[in-house]
Amino acid sequence: MSTLLLDGATGTELGRRGADITLPLWSARALLEAPDLLKAIHVDYLDAGAGAITTNTFRTHRRSLAKAGLGDRAAQLTTRAVEIANESRQQRNPDALIVGSVAPLEDCYRPDLAPDEAACRREHTEMIRALLEAGVEFVGLETMNNLTEAGAATEAARRLAAGKWMVSFCTRSEGPPGVLLSGEPLADILPSLGDAHAVGVNCVAAPAVECQVTFLRDALPPHVRIIAYANIGYADSAGNWVTTDAVDPAAYARYASRWVAAGADIIGGCCGTTPDTIRAVKKAIGA
Ligand SMILES: [Zn+2]
Repeated sequence: MSTLLLDGATGTELGRRGADITLPLWSARALLEAPDLLKAIHVDYLDAGAGAITTNTFRTHRRSLAKAGLGDRAAQLTTRAVEIANESRQQRNPDALIVGSVAPLEDCYRPDLAPDEAACRREHTEMIRALLEAGVEFVGLETMNNLTEAGAATEAARRLAAGKWMVSFCTRSEGPPGVLLSGEPLADILPSLGDAHAVGVNCVAAPAVECQVTFLRDALPPHVRIIAYANIGYADSAGNWVTTDAVDPAAYARYASRWVAAGADIIGGCCGTTPDTIRAVKKAIGA
């Protein structure tokens, strides 16, 4: 199967282009205040060569929106995000896939804040159902940082989107591969993921991704595709953002080539990547 090129970051790219991405709404605010800018970002990723658009639904769970008094608009805003992704596809590349982003219910870098299993199951079910009803081709669980939430979210995806779901994990950027941000072993959930379309890592520093890809390729059956999309930096132990050389699109593309060599076949960009990053990756891997 040929390599699928995903898009790059949406949230940080909205911020780079002047949109308000303050918490708690973060990227979801653009659905209300900057839909044209959001659409322009999707279009720019398609023009850069992305074969898939990720919906701007990272923060449209009811729980996230409720923090801004908008909880009752969860389904509406999720649907709006899918519509905007669809409009960009119609404009530029009708063959592109729409991947419905499903994020952790709480801060993606704070596994300690994850709700209990019943809440995770209930809230991810609501989110996944809304994305499917709005017409996404794939459900993309991303930045999953702990086993309880990942288990509940993958179970909901399996039930609602059989064969049309993927999951990527946020692993530690330092130390041995296969350790979630929570400190739990990724190996514990992998045996249950044989029916996923793809499994991978995201929101990890680019230099730390290759060993994660090797780890996943060894652990998963060959029919499961491997996803990799990285950050251009990482948060250090004191919480400060440290930029790596992956901020340079050509350098990011060199990392991406190594992920492909290690067995990844769905490649994109996470926080801090731009359409220039995706253009460079396309040139490097020929997707
Ligand atoms: Zn990220």
